[in-house]
Amino acid sequence: MSGIERVCISVNSVCNLKCTYCYFFLEPDKLPGPKVLSREDLDVILGNVERYGRRAEANKPVKVNFVGSGEPLMEWKSIHGAIAGLRERRPKHTVRFYTVTNGLLLSRKVVRQMRDVGLGPSISLDGPAHIHDATRVRHNGRGSHRATMKGIDALRAEGMPVAINVTMTREVVSNLEEVFDFIQEQGFEKAIFGRLVDVPEEHEVSTAEFYGALRRVAELKAERGLHQLEVGNLEAYRRALSGAPDRVCTMFGSTCGSGFHNIIYMQRDVYPCGRMVGIDRWKLGRFDEPLERFPERMAGITGTSGCGARYAEADRDPAGVDCLLEREREDYDPAPRKVFVQWMGGARDAGRLDRA
Ligand code: SF4
Ligand code: SF4
Repeated sequence: MSGIERVCISVNSVCNLKCTYCYFFLEPDKLPGPKVLSREDLDVILGNVERYGRRAEANKPVKVNFVGSGEPLMEWKSIHGAIAGLRERRPKHTVRFYTVTNGLLLSRKVVRQMRDVGLGPSISLDGPAHIHDATRVRHNGRGSHRATMKGIDALRAEGMPVAINVTMTREVVSNLEEVFDFIQEQGFEKAIFGRLVDVPEEHEVSTAEFYGALRRVAELKAERGLHQLEVGNLEAYRRALSGAPDRVCTMFGSTCGSGFHNIIYMQRDVYPCGRMVGIDRWKLGRFDEPLERFPERMAGITGTSGCGARYAEADRDPAGVDCLLEREREDYDPAPRKVFVQWMGGARDAGRLDRA
């Protein structure tokens, strides 16, 4: 077992956008409010992550992703300073850094700084303007597509590859071909298709619709021969089916790792994943504690043998365990993911999947 593989850090709870489905605005009471992790707090967290990555049994670099309940680049100065500071203290550290940003604050200077400290940005972009702007709006209600594309221009001007995070909104799922036309036309290097969860009914995309759309993504990529495009979710399922899953989250990957392999710092508190924030039962500890303590506490909540221990063998599948929160629901239906995994396995064996 590899231990914690992915650490998300939600530095703030403020955003320069007001997307219509964002839980940040829909359930503000769940969030810790305007507290922001300071540069010093981030130094403590990154120091703990780096130490954890050096333990003898570690067999994978730990990935740190600045993402969460706000726009991370609004705190770019602290984030940049903390990553650069870690490199000064530990020049040979193996921690990998990423961020998911709406792109509005990306300038060529920021992009250069990202490149210098080795941080990979991914831009939240839901396809062409009329699809993206249907939900990703500013505080004044206007669409944000143009501003996000300006951020992407800054990445390109600095020769950085463009990775995008597409949220599988109702608009995206209903217009996948058009979203793909746009991705193809733009020549993006990487895309991840994230699930939309815990939203009001009018925004809901069912599990069956999500996995159906993910299958269509794989088919479109193959039909169009988009070899340059890496689709993060499909690669995650491919690795899982080969027996090497990234145990992080089924919202954008293949396999749940909540608490044992995946944790989130929601400012000064630590939880197994972003969907558990604000629920006492799931709180794992404080930001300044050693990482080793969090999986131990998770074992105290869910049982000692790790993810999925409390679930019947029949509920597992070759891609590893499904979302812990969904498995806890009375109306949990494992079928859509099982069908998708079976299809992926068959398509891979028959050579019908396009490889990135
Ligand atoms: S950019 Fe992200 S955090 Fe900001 S409003 Fe949109 S979904 Fe919410
Ligand atoms: S419990 Fe669900 S949402 Fe949380 S990390 Fe696991 S798959 Fe993701």
